Amino acid sequence: MLTKSFWMTEPLDNYIVQNWLREPDVLRRLREETAQMPNAGMQISPDQGQFMSLLVKLIGARRYLEIGVFTGYSSLAVALALPEDGQVVACDVSEEYTSMARRYWQEAGVAGKIDLRIAPASQTLKVLADEGTSFDFAFIDADKSGYRDYYERALTLLRPGGLIAIDNVLWAGRIVDMKKTDPDTLALRDLNAALTADERIDLALVPIGDGLTLARKK
Ligand code: CA
Repeated sequence: MLTKSFWMTEPLDNYIVQNWLREPDVLRRLREETAQMPNAGMQISPDQGQFMSLLVKLIGARRYLEIGVFTGYSSLAVALALPEDGQVVACDVSEEYTSMARRYWQEAGVAGKIDLRIAPASQTLKVLADEGTSFDFAFIDADKSGYRDYYERALTLLRPGGLIAIDNVLWAGRIVDMKKTDPDTLALRDLNAALTADERIDLALVPIGDGLTLARKK
């Protein structure tokens, strides 16, 4: 199913894809190539990519921070939605996955907008803070045990009124399965609970894909 929502039915998935999906050809090809890979499940769904493109336009984002690139679907979807002078800083640790991302960024003509930094994200975020950089929009979709740290650092880097989107917050339903106590699940529960009480942000959940938290910096 293209929407990848764990609660989705096949007929609804088909209906959503037929009626709402407007996936550019370059994104479709990237998605199809990624689907051949063992970790294909790490890619966001095309409807989520489309939703993030809309968010970019709604908030008039120019500068986008991505934590967790994988093969580049989300960064490409956002880069295509950014204005001509838009800029992306993309953080990942994998040369292998991001080499595929680079190929599609080139092909789509957005490579010049994207500054890829291969290093642990917490390190890159620290460097960005030292550089005094700020962002309009951030997307967190990396190792779940790092989420809390990425969130804090991204919030600092965001301008007031800027938006953080956090992926996989419903964790395919495991978030409410209390028998699951692995570090990733615990980290997601911890973050979800912390954000509820976080006065620095306006908060919403979008049950798209595997659950997407939206946090707007006040
Ligand atoms: Ca994800």
